[in-house]
Parts: sequence; C-alpha cells; structure tokens
Amino acid sequence: MHGLMMDYPLTMDRILEHAYRLYPHKRITTKLPDGSMHQYTYTHLYERVKRLANVLGKLGVKPGDRVGTFAWNNYQHLELYYAIPCSGAVCHTLNIRLFPEQLTYIVNHAEDKVVFIDATLLPLFEGVAEQIDCVQHYVLFNADRGLETKLPNVSFYEELMADADDDYEWRATDENAAMGLCYTSGTTGDPKGVLYSHRSMYLHTMGANQANSLALTEADVVLTVVPQFHAMAWGLPYACAFAGAEMVMPGPHLKPPDLAEMIAEEKVTVPAGVPTIWTGLYHELKENPRDVSHVRALLVGGAAMPRALIEAYEKDLNINVLHAWGMTEMSPLGTVSHLQSHHHELPKHEQWDVKARQGYPVAGVEMRIVNDAGEELLWDGVTMGEVQVRGPWIAKAYYKVDSSSEHFTPDGWFRTGDVATMSEDGYMHITDRTKDLVKSGGEWISSVALENSLMAHQSVMEAAVIAIPDERWGERPMAVVVLASDANPVTDEELLEYLAPKFPKFWLPNRLAFIEEIPKTSVGKFDKKVLRHRYAEGKLG
Ligand code: AMP
Repeated sequence: MHGLMMDYPLTMDRILEHAYRLYPHKRITTKLPDGSMHQYTYTHLYERVKRLANVLGKLGVKPGDRVGTFAWNNYQHLELYYAIPCSGAVCHTLNIRLFPEQLTYIVNHAEDKVVFIDATLLPLFEGVAEQIDCVQHYVLFNADRGLETKLPNVSFYEELMADADDDYEWRATDENAAMGLCYTSGTTGDPKGVLYSHRSMYLHTMGANQANSLALTEADVVLTVVPQFHAMAWGLPYACAFAGAEMVMPGPHLKPPDLAEMIAEEKVTVPAGVPTIWTGLYHELKENPRDVSHVRALLVGGAAMPRALIEAYEKDLNINVLHAWGMTEMSPLGTVSHLQSHHHELPKHEQWDVKARQGYPVAGVEMRIVNDAGEELLWDGVTMGEVQVRGPWIAKAYYKVDSSSEHFTPDGWFRTGDVATMSEDGYMHITDRTKDLVKSGGEWISSVALENSLMAHQSVMEAAVIAIPDERWGERPMAVVVLASDANPVTDEELLEYLAPKFPKFWLPNRLAFIEEIPKTSVGKFDKKVLRHRYAEGKLG
C-alpha cells in the first residue's frame, strides 16, 4: 500500500522560488575583478535567472545538455548555478586550475554544448579551445564587447541578457533528471564525472541546513571562498537560498587581506574554505586585527584542519572553527564536527581534540569502516578502517564509466578511499587516504597524524608526510617541512626529538627535508603525488 502524499518533484527551481518569496531583499554581494563591490538581492537573482534561462533556450540548449562554466565565484556564476538546471540542462562546473590536457579531456568527455567563461580567465581557456570540438557557443562575462579573442562563436553575457525575455516557465519537472556535473580532481587515472540529480541536490541542501549540520539561517552571511568549480561550492549556493542567508562571493580576490576585509565589512557569519586559505587568514588577522566578531563558524573542509590551527583561532582570535568532511561524490557533505552537549564539560584542550576530528555523519548519510577483507569494524576510536558511505546524495556510478567496482561495493556502498577511526559517539577521525598510508613492516602509519603533530610545532608552517620505499620495511615515512617565515631556526634532529614522545618509535620519519612550499593540487590540497615523484623514486638517503 502506498502512502497518500503528493508526488512533489524535488527540483532546484523550488529552492529559488522559496528564496524569492520569503527573502526578496536579502543581499548577494560580489567583489568584482576591478576591486569594486557588486550587490543585488534574491529578487534580482530570480529575475536574471529567468532571463538567463531564455538565453540558454536561444543558444539551443535542450534538457539534458551539458553547459560548462569556467569562472571564479561571482553573481554571474550563481545565476548559471540556477538557470542551467532550472531550464532542464546540466551545470558542468570546470575547474580553472586544471592542466590544459585535463581541461580538454573533461570538456570533450562531458560534451559541453555551451561554455560560459569569466573573461578574466579567457587566456587559460583560449589555450585549450582548439582541441575542443563539441562546444557550439562561448559566452563571455566580465567582458566588454570590444574584447578580442581567438575563441570561435563568441557572444557577450550582458548583451544576451538585455535582449532576453524575463518571463520563463521552469523546465525541470523530473526530480531524477541530472542537474550538475563535477569531475573529481583525479589524483589517479583520468578525472571522473559525478552527475548530481535535482533530487540528490535538493536533499543535500536540506541535509546541509539541519540544526546538527551547517544550520544556516536567514541571519547568516556566508562567504564562499570554496570555489564554485569545486564540489558545487559545498552546495552553499543552494543552502543559502533555502535558508535565506546572504551570500558574499570573493571573485578572484583570495589573498588573506582581501578575505579579512570582506569578512569585516560584510559582517560575515560563516566563511567557508579549505585549511590552506585559513592558515593565511590567521596570520593576516594576527598582524592586522579587524572586527571579525560576527563569525559564528569558520567552516573548513576539503582537507584536514590542523588541530593547532583550530586552537589558535579560538585562543587568539576568538573564532569557532567548524570542521567538516565530504567528497565530490557526496555532493559533498558527509560529516560535521560540532561539539555535542556531552563535550561541553570537557577542558578546552579536549574540545579542540574533538573539533579536529572530521565529525559525525550528517543525518541522511550512513557510514561504516571496514578492513581489507571487507569486514565491518568497531566504533571504538582506535580501530582504523576504510570509510564507506551510502545515502540519497551519494554517487552510485561515475558518468560514462561502465564498471567501477573498485569504487562501489557489491552491497551498495561507496568506497571513499579515506581511512579513519570512528569514536563510540560517532565522530570520524581520518587517519589517511588508503593510498597515502605508510605501510611499514606490515603495520599502518598515519601520515596525517605525523603531519598534524609537526604543524603544531611553533616553527613549522606546513608539513607533509609521504611513504618512501625501504628494502627492509617496505615503506618508511619521510616528512617534508615548510618553516614559518618568522620562525626560530630548527634542525631535523630537533623536530624528530619533538615527535619522539608522541608516537611509537617505528612511526618516526626516517628522513626530513625542508622546502619553500608544499606543492598543492588544483583545489589547494597537498599534492603528495608530486612529493612522491620528487622524493620516493630514489633509494633512501
Ligand atoms: P574532493 O572530492 O576533491 O573534495 O576530495 C575529497 C577528499 O578530500 C576526501 O576523500 C578526503 O580525503 C579529503 N577531505 C575532505 N575533507 C576533509 C577533512 N575535513 N579532513 C581530511 N580530509 C578531508
């Protein structure tokens, strides 16, 4: 017997309609390339999304077509986030930091029909356009008509918008239709496409806004530093609209002084970004204090937030850090690390330990940890296993990949490739990626634990630990360290002595190298592949 409830499609236009009806005057602010601020409201967004949906129709975009975006975080990109899915097409966000070969591969693989380009990024795209044959139109924004370009079939965003009708009937009626496409950064093999549906993104939006999750409300002002070309900006463009939260987008201005200024001037309550961004912001705020007292949660994910930085933010700047974990394949939100009521009695240093974990699963996401044999492991805070997840906003396959059994289990779980412990009260603590674990004499060594410990040393700014081959033990850990610019000099022996009391002896790195900067991936994470290439391919020194 079926229930007697409405068959109400969970589509993106419902989210926009809600914001337009309830929060018409809430503001959306963008820092433009020239440094000036652009500001409008959800009413303007709504009206322009309708125009843009008509523009897409005129360009020949049909339901199901993929439409690429190549842009910083700005209001035009936000308009595309809505207009593309609300007209039935698929919003394919292209990562502006990819190598040319990867970008070409991704556009061709997705068969993007139209690509919208932020003109400040035009040279990057021009470099690959000759190898792309599927794109029928390029549309430029943040550009004057006179702009010269090598791209064929170019039109200008504002001209198309000026000519378009502002009346439009939303076309997304099937909640299971695809609405967004994001390729994972592809640390191994070709990048893989994750194809979100309206339903999955709608449910993710509701998951993100639960009180135990990000809990956005209409009183929030969210600064999305996390790029819109990475994992749908953690779904924040949809979560903000549903909650009625105001949005601030930094455009290309990602330097710490710019971000500090935006947080202070726009009275931001939730800045959202990866740890490397917040390392820079911390030093900026220490050197040039500003009024950041409105921040209720500095949202951080994408890589582990070092415990030392969580502590420093709270002690020195009175800023509460909210650590979260997710993956492109998970839309992306999986866990958040709010303290729960039973933590409030704990001393501060134990609370920071909790906050440094990646957190408990957002309701809607199921998690388990398993060993190499696929057996489920205990949630005892000690036993490490591979994290597997399932739920309504988690991918069940990759786009145009027939068999991906290495990523999905026969009983319907997604294999994250992260290795973690789960505490009894359900807090995940990531100890590694399966491929980054150091396996020494058959035992696992967590590179992440060593990194965090090194980064807690006052002279160390960044540290990455990789496995290097070893004849006797198979692999041994090596640490690559960047010293803070104002640091007292420290030797490798001193750092090893500092680590010694904290870890079993066999965990201590065999080798330590000081470098200027840790190489980063296109989304700002430590690029251990480059480090392995540089250090692991020789014999131990
Ligand atoms: P991506 O799909 O590019 O966002 O990458 C997802 C991966 O980033 C995860 O599988 C984790 O390895 C890593 N990651 C994301 N958030 C965190 C976090 N809070 N702590 C540690 N690793 C993280």
